Amino acid sequence: MDICTASQQVIQTVSATKPGSDVGYIHSVDSCGTVDGPGVRFIVFTSGCPLRCVYCHNPDALCKTNGLQRSVDDLLDEIGTYAEFIKRANGGITVSGGEPLSQHRFVEALFRGAKKRYGLHTALDTSGHGNLGAVKSLLDVTDLVLLDIKSWNPNTYQQVTGQKVDSCLQFARLLQERKQPTWIRYVLVPGVTDAPDNLRGLAEFLRGMNCVERIELLSFHKMGEYKWEELGIDYTLKDVLPPTREQILSAAKILHESGRKVVSGLS
Ligand code: SF4
Repeated sequence: MDICTASQQVIQTVSATKPGSDVGYIHSVDSCGTVDGPGVRFIVFTSGCPLRCVYCHNPDALCKTNGLQRSVDDLLDEIGTYAEFIKRANGGITVSGGEPLSQHRFVEALFRGAKKRYGLHTALDTSGHGNLGAVKSLLDVTDLVLLDIKSWNPNTYQQVTGQKVDSCLQFARLLQERKQPTWIRYVLVPGVTDAPDNLRGLAEFLRGMNCVERIELLSFHKMGEYKWEELGIDYTLKDVLPPTREQILSAAKILHESGRKVVSGLS
C-alpha cells in the first residue's frame, strides 16, 4: 500500500474552503522553530509531497488532502502574535513540508502577506520538485531557500526518494542563475548517502554555486520511525544507526572541497 493511501485511512481530513492561492493544506505549525533558517522562526509545514524518502520523519504529511485547510489571512493572524518577538530574535517565517512547491501560489501569498504586514524574513524549505516555470514569482518574495539535496548520485537519489534527481538539480541551477541566497541541506545516512564519490560529486557541483551560503550536514535520525509503524508501512531503515562522529567529520571534510561553509552538529 502506498504511504499516502495508508495515511488517508488513519487521518481525517478537515474540510473548510476550496484550496487555491488563499487557502493551503497545512500539516502543522511551530511558533518557535530554531533549526529551519536563521534566528527564531514561525514554521508552517505544508502537506503533500511527490517524494517518498525512506527516512521521512513526516510520513503523515505526504498526502496533501490529509492536511488542514487554512487561509493565508488566518495563518497571518496567528503569525502576528509572534511577529515582534520573531523580528527581535532575527528570525522570520519558514515554509517547510511536505513539499511547499506543490502549493506555490499559496506559499507566495503567505510570504507576500508576512512581508507586507510584519516585514518578516521568509525562507522556503524545499526538495526542489515543482513546476520551475511557475515558482519564479514565489522566489521573488523568498529571502532564503533551504534546498534539500537527498543525493548527488542519481541511483541513490532514486533509491532514497523514489524520484529522479533532475528536477532538484534544475531547481538548484535556477537558484544560481537568480543569485538566490541558498542553504543546502544533506541528510547523511550511513551506508546509503555517505559514499565518498556521492559526496565528492555534490561538492564539485556546489563549487559552481556561489549563491550557496552554507551546507548543512544533517544526521539521519529515527524520530519519525514510530509514525511509519502507526501507518502500517515497512520502515526499511530499521537497522541503520545514526552516523558516528567520525562518519560526520569525514563527510564534512569532503563537502568542504566545495569551498562553501559546512555546518554539522559537530561544528
Ligand atoms: S521531501 Fe521531505 S516530506 Fe517529502 S518525503 Fe522526503 S523527507 Fe518526507
